[in-house]
Amino acid sequence: MMNLSEYYTAGRRGLSFELFPPKTEAGLASLYESVDRLMAFGPDYFTCTYGAGGSTQGLTLDVLTEVRRRTELPVASHLTCVGATAEEIRQFLAEANRRGTNFIVALRGDPPKGETKFQAVEGGLHYANELVELIRSEPHPFGIAVAGYPEVHQEAVDAQSDLDNLKRKVDAGADIIITQLFYQNEDFYQFRDDCVKRGITIPIVPGLLPITNLKQAQRITSMCKAKLPATLVERLSENEDADWQFEIGVQHAREQMLDLLENEAAGMHLYVLNKSQAAEKMLEGCELGSPA
Ligand code: FAD
Repeated sequence: MMNLSEYYTAGRRGLSFELFPPKTEAGLASLYESVDRLMAFGPDYFTCTYGAGGSTQGLTLDVLTEVRRRTELPVASHLTCVGATAEEIRQFLAEANRRGTNFIVALRGDPPKGETKFQAVEGGLHYANELVELIRSEPHPFGIAVAGYPEVHQEAVDAQSDLDNLKRKVDAGADIIITQLFYQNEDFYQFRDDCVKRGITIPIVPGLLPITNLKQAQRITSMCKAKLPATLVERLSENEDADWQFEIGVQHAREQMLDLLENEAAGMHLYVLNKSQAAEKMLEGCELGSPA
């Protein structure tokens, strides 16, 4: 069994890239092209999201199987509790293991489209800590990552209870925490300090999503309620030119990343959205991930 925390120890700053299963053949081809380009930065592993409501579950493993074949790197499948019984989750885990998946990013998931509250199905799981427990009770050697929220999860009663819940996931057997995207590093530093005070000592890996245009930023941040710095929004609003907005967004993400590295971030998880250009610009000249 590989413990995911090994990528983030002894001066090693793990680098991971998050993909999602595309809906078309053209999307798949472009994803694999991006993966090939991202290999230049020495990533430690790739992850692939798991569709809400089970829409793309089979595809997640298909994408990861191909990424693993092409890159010879370990891969992580995201997995949620949405719409599945514990037995169905066990079956997915067995299949993921059979296909060589190394790690699971264990999540509760969001309520399906049109619903506002997460409801476990009969015989299903209610929270991600139960999913971590279930994975650990199975005979597969998965490393496990869980989600953390520097700006507090939208449904949490308050920051303290969100941390208590995070601690439950850690105690259930998570190896590392990957954070929700955020654009103000102070939120991450505060969260990291609060985790330590709460007795959470596993690596906390910042998750960054470079903004490449203003519309995308507004959509994403309204979905997960991340705060955008006013200065960044102002700059993006100055000019509608796509190339210009891309440059501004990526420059912000690069500065954010360099500041995190200077302040001892464990590593870096990039939400690359199946495209490599923004990540390539962000990572130019940075020493992260495995040596080539
Ligand atoms: P949980 O940890 O279960 O927490 C959910 C809420 O319940 C929180 O408010 C928490 O404070 C509270 N809570 C937790 N345990 C308890 C308890 N025992 N009692 C009371 N309250 C509790 N979504 C997808 O659909 N597919 C993906 O592939 C995907 N990948 C992601 C990857 C990362 C790195 C991140 C950060 C998020 C991802 N998400 C994904 C989104 C995620 O599913 C949502 O943020 C979801 O709303 C919460 O998932 P969770 O695992 O954090 O839930």
